[in-house]
Amino acid sequence: MDQLDCVIAGAGVIGLAVARALARAGREVLVLEAAEAIGTETSSRNSEVIHAGIYYPADSLMARFCVAGRRALYAFCRDRGVPHRNCGKLIVATSADEDARLAGIKARAEANGVEGMRVLTAAEARAMEPALACTSALLSPATGIIDSHAYMLALQGEAEAAGAAVVFHAPVESARAVPGGMELRTGGAEPMTLGCRLFVNAAGLHAPALARRIDGLAAAHVPTAYYAKGNYFTLSGRSPFSRLIYPVPVPGGLGVHLTIDLGGQARFGPDVEWVDQLDYRVDPRRADGFYAAVRRYWPGLRDGALQPGYAGIRPKIVPRGAPAQDFVIQGPREHGLPGLINLFGIESPGLTASLALADHVAAIAAE
Ligand SMILES: Cc1cc2nc3c(=O)[nH]c(=O)nc-3n(C[C@H](O)[C@H](O)[C@H](O)COP(=O)(O)OP(=O)(O)OC[C@H]3O[C@@H](n4cnc5c(N)ncnc54)[C@H](O)[C@@H]3O)c2cc1C
Repeated sequence: MDQLDCVIAGAGVIGLAVARALARAGREVLVLEAAEAIGTETSSRNSEVIHAGIYYPADSLMARFCVAGRRALYAFCRDRGVPHRNCGKLIVATSADEDARLAGIKARAEANGVEGMRVLTAAEARAMEPALACTSALLSPATGIIDSHAYMLALQGEAEAAGAAVVFHAPVESARAVPGGMELRTGGAEPMTLGCRLFVNAAGLHAPALARRIDGLAAAHVPTAYYAKGNYFTLSGRSPFSRLIYPVPVPGGLGVHLTIDLGGQARFGPDVEWVDQLDYRVDPRRADGFYAAVRRYWPGLRDGALQPGYAGIRPKIVPRGAPAQDFVIQGPREHGLPGLINLFGIESPGLTASLALADHVAAIAAE
């Protein structure tokens, strides 16, 4: 049986960032990916926004890793030529009730260390974005957009340059705790059993199911997986906005917002649809809800301008209606198994947070 140092399940943005961090720390790293390529699940089905770190509770992992990860991500993109743009965003209020909420959002952002937040009058916001309808707005200059696939390729390249290997069509089927680490069984065309000192479960939506197949891990440490789908509709024609436009957040998500990709294509989403299955089809009938949500801040949206786009699914670990859950990074201190780190509930802002989250995992691995 092959004996390795570190094995990671999952080559999404998190598994790749962890692979890079561990390999650069001098560890031997193998990434096992069930699919045929990197980043085919949640990491390629998101808004591609570099979040500033505005909404998360102070001192949460989301707040800390989003702010630190965002600073590291801008530097990474600049140094490696990863396409990105620090375009900024406006959070727009469209009622007196929402006006009152902006001050609280700004205070929370500042407690998290987000730079440059500024409340704008409706006239100031419209001077920046003439098509906007709002009663006031909050400017976040630190927010941006990124080509997430180019970013993942850069992570993979740096991980491999530091000695890591990524293998595709290699799902980790099960694992068991053994003296000195973990023993893994993989499936696919060439099933194998291999041993490792450290196993990192970065399987995204499938992380709880995989953890349930780890012999020796107490069931109490494995959360239930819930899926909150986010649908996107793309805008046909040119967007009149140069910044990202977000409404005041709604329960379960950030609200139907406008993002722009680096090619200039505008899209609206994601909404929140709790589902039981991983089904990425976008139901065209959901457009009605989008027109209504978007016209609150952009009354000029034409009938027929929205086309079904794509969907992503949030890897929730709490059910609908429960308070939002922080990232869960579970190492030996939490579950008592020396050779295992589980990553659960890595939803937004996981893309932004990835470099900081990976450094944290590498620090646990070094303990
Ligand atoms: C709708 C939506 C919008 C979002 N918008 C943003 C945003 O704008 N900005 C931001 O910062 N974050 C955003 N996020 C969050 C971000 O996309 C995720 O946090 C991030 O992509 C999670 O990456 P991951 O590597 O954990 O998961 P994934 O990308 O899903 O990767 C997991 C990988 O594990 C593989 N796998 C599964 N099971 C196994 C197994 N048994 N063995 C081997 N491999 C396995 C899968 O094939 C997959 O490749 C958004 C998320 C959603 C859903």
